[in-house]
Amino acid sequence: TTLHYPYEVPRSAALFERAREVTPGGVNSPVRAFQAVGGTPRFLTAGAGPLVTDADGREYVDLVNSWGALLHGHAEPTVLAAVREAVERGTTFGAPTTGEVRLAEAIVGRVPAVERVRLVGSGTEATMSAIRLARGVTGRPAVVKFAGCYHGHVDALLASAGSGAMTLGLPEGAGVAAAQVADTIVVPFNDIEAVRAAFERHGERIACLVTEAVPANMGVVPPRPGFTAALAALCREYGALFVVDEVITGFRVGPGGWCELEGVEPDLLTFGKAMGGGLPAAAFGGRAELMDRLAPDGPVYQAGTLSGNPLATAAGLAALRLADDDLYARLDTAASSIADAASAALSAVGVAHRVQRAGNLFSVFFTGDEVTDRAAAGAQDTRAYAVFFHAMLARGVYLPPSAFEAWFVSGALDDAALARVHAALPAAAEVTAEA
Ligand code: PMP
Repeated sequence: TTLHYPYEVPRSAALFERAREVTPGGVNSPVRAFQAVGGTPRFLTAGAGPLVTDADGREYVDLVNSWGALLHGHAEPTVLAAVREAVERGTTFGAPTTGEVRLAEAIVGRVPAVERVRLVGSGTEATMSAIRLARGVTGRPAVVKFAGCYHGHVDALLASAGSGAMTLGLPEGAGVAAAQVADTIVVPFNDIEAVRAAFERHGERIACLVTEAVPANMGVVPPRPGFTAALAALCREYGALFVVDEVITGFRVGPGGWCELEGVEPDLLTFGKAMGGGLPAAAFGGRAELMDRLAPDGPVYQAGTLSGNPLATAAGLAALRLADDDLYARLDTAASSIADAASAALSAVGVAHRVQRAGNLFSVFFTGDEVTDRAAAGAQDTRAYAVFFHAMLARGVYLPPSAFEAWFVSGALDDAALARVHAALPAAAEVTAEA
């Protein structure tokens, strides 16, 4: 059955056609193409606070927020002012700058497990570099990862990855040489016995275990109570490093990220998204003794022409300075408001669903069962999500265009924006029930 799209967006459609002529699939990151939900991807022309506008002049309440990069919504005035001030002094130097020191100090100040941090350009680079460091420090080759976790398009970590790889049903992906994943051990999330078995079998070869602090690339799948601490303990027992990817959760679920909330201290952590304030910045960090094994002081090489870019560090620092207790309270309130209203609307019309939450991160699964791992996430009704997504879009609410992604709130979601979401939900739930 084909979906019915109850609206037209001729300008976005024309731009998409043009884009497809010159760019593979018309997009520079696969999930943007709306393949999982069908229809025409919106070309966005502007954002202001909680809202985005598309090329056809339609306005939406944005619950993607650049996949978590925007903590404060669009065009936050203080962040813009910081970027404006920085740009006047030049856009890049390839030499040390004060902004890098300030941003690193802000990260070290917020995250108890981080004594030293290296800035990079993307979350992919952060996890790639953390794994190289873990291998370099331990002298071991193998990496343990969880099915359904996404850590960027790092070859070794694309095995059973979440996000776009899962949305498109390409969990292994062409172009990844067998040798690149030969030392990747994939285990199911929330299954400590499976992890223990992997360590019993391969322990002496394992350089590190990498996990998302809260998996949010197969929808949101919270770790069971004690699971993260048990992973840390297993790593310690076998002399492997515990690497936690906080690219999504870092500075979003709380001032110091998820591990600080849970009281777990990983060996290495990765960050991205929110720490760049909407510009490209990411990082990896940990104890000094480990991080000092990086070049130039140590033997593990890692570098970047635009790493610590002055515009990105200015935006990131401004965004982090605005991320105070009041912001986290507002993010929690917005998440509760939307998650509860979505659940109530779907329950009212008898649509099987589960809202899963970890702090202010949440997603809606169209399934009656609890989702604890990738297999369960894959069993949800993705067509129901597509119908729901388009019904919300038609009513001015922009959700992630895939059932395997988190919904992202921002501090800019004011009463008027929340009211628009609340107004859209009952009708969208009804459309979903009838489809
Ligand atoms: N880790 C996680 C947990 C992510 O969600 C992502 C991107 N969504 C990445 C790493 C990769 O980050 P980037 O897209 O900046 O390379």
